[in-house]
Amino acid sequence: MQTLSFSVFRNAKMRFALPLVLAMGTFAVHGDIVASMSHQVEVLLLLPYILLSLVMMLCQPFNQSKTGISAMLMLLAYYLIQQNLQAPLAQSKTGLTYILLAILLPLNLFQLHFIPERRLFSRFGLIYLGILGLQLSWGWLLIKHVEPDQTTNVWQTYFYTLGDFSPLPLILILMLLALACASASIILKRNQGYDQATFICLLFSGLTLTQFQQPYISSIAFTVASGLLLLNLMSCSHELAFIDPLTGIPGRRAMETELKHLGRTYTLAMLDVDHFKQFNDKYGHKTGDDVLRLVAQFLLNINIKADVYRYGGEEFTILFKGRRKSQCIEALEELREAIANYPMHIRDVESRPLDDLEGKRKRGSRRKNETVQITVSIGVADSQEDSRTANVLKVADKALYKAKQQGRNQVA
Ligand code: GH3
Ligand code: MG
Ligand code: MG
Repeated sequence: MQTLSFSVFRNAKMRFALPLVLAMGTFAVHGDIVASMSHQVEVLLLLPYILLSLVMMLCQPFNQSKTGISAMLMLLAYYLIQQNLQAPLAQSKTGLTYILLAILLPLNLFQLHFIPERRLFSRFGLIYLGILGLQLSWGWLLIKHVEPDQTTNVWQTYFYTLGDFSPLPLILILMLLALACASASIILKRNQGYDQATFICLLFSGLTLTQFQQPYISSIAFTVASGLLLLNLMSCSHELAFIDPLTGIPGRRAMETELKHLGRTYTLAMLDVDHFKQFNDKYGHKTGDDVLRLVAQFLLNINIKADVYRYGGEEFTILFKGRRKSQCIEALEELREAIANYPMHIRDVESRPLDDLEGKRKRGSRRKNETVQITVSIGVADSQEDSRTANVLKVADKALYKAKQQGRNQVA
């Protein structure tokens, strides 16, 4: 199904595993990529600039500022690598620039997990850019005061390095590993797109810094990272457009898109929570939201294959492709019964909003942790009713109205 194809990339394990696998792949085959692109190295050198700028521009309209900042940091790092780090690291100035980049870039990336999602063109953004500017000036001053003719890398004299494997001191490799692991655990815990953006950048800048002696490693790693950032951005934008943020199931727009591509046989069911307004008044909107999430979970676990959507408010649509009405009634009855028999625990009745006086009056002196039952009414129609999907939906809606009239908690 079209609306589900991108959801694969929003799975927490996928958000973690895809960048990791691609980073390992890049590590394994970057030599072959350079060999195959030996006649187009200019393109290879330019790609990260183009792709990272594209990511930054696309982040603006979609309000993905943290992903945009990740891309900006990568762009800056790539520029520094191309402009200042193309000389042997044994030279003290280059060596110091490399070490400073290896310390500051991962730390700046990692802290993106913890800053709020705000626009870059705001007071917050200005402060952020100010701090970044201070780091750059500090780094520039440090490098400026190192003797240029010194040719031993001071850093490698003090810190243990892994010889041929990497010019980066072991302690910084360990820091990179620790940050990448922490970043991965944050993705697996929170499953947010902007966390993945940070993880991608940490992983591929880490790969670049540890494999710095390999020709064109920065161009290849940063290009792959940009591709992943673009994929991240697309799946996040897809989510914004098609997924209902409250229940996590596809929303009205996704449904309307899907209804345009239906085959000859299908059944549509409209489901509406009974007396939901009263429920909201009694228990507060937060608990009402919990009920909607719960109903969505029940819908996802319906017995036969179905696509479910939040139509709006407390109404849901269930689409059974390739099935007639008669083939779906049983599953719908089971669904209705399962919801009606589910004892819903209301947590902490006392902490409901107190500003709602009407609600307070209705709530009375109820105690904490009570159990309530909710019911739903369902109206069903199939493609035999009418050749036009919009009309089938109308018939289902009428059936729903009938179910309400006949006393609710039933399928009509
Ligand atoms: P009926 O049994 O006839 O369907 O009665 P009802 O009260 O469920 O129907 P009505 O359409 O009058 O009320 C729907 C209520 O759903 C109104 C609104 O407060 C509530 N609602 C709509 N969207 C949301 C939401 O996202 N969260 C919460 N908590 N409530 C919502
Ligand atoms: Mg309603
Ligand atoms: Mg209702």
